Amino acid sequence: MMSYVCPVCDYVYDERIGAPREGFAPGTAWESIPDDWCCPDCGVREKLDFEPREEASR
Ligand SMILES: [Zn+2]
Repeated sequence: MMSYVCPVCDYVYDERIGAPREGFAPGTAWESIPDDWCCPDCGVREKLDFEPREEASR
């Protein structure tokens, strides 16, 4: 599983957690997020601007 970080406000989308506030259930893959989805915290960055961050899965 991967996390994706907003470059502006450091909001993290974690695929394991999803974004229930946004209607994305836990386990929702990044590929399933619409491309025009905006960062729920700052609202200025879209999905494409997010930076992938590898999780230490242990
Ligand atoms: Zn943001």
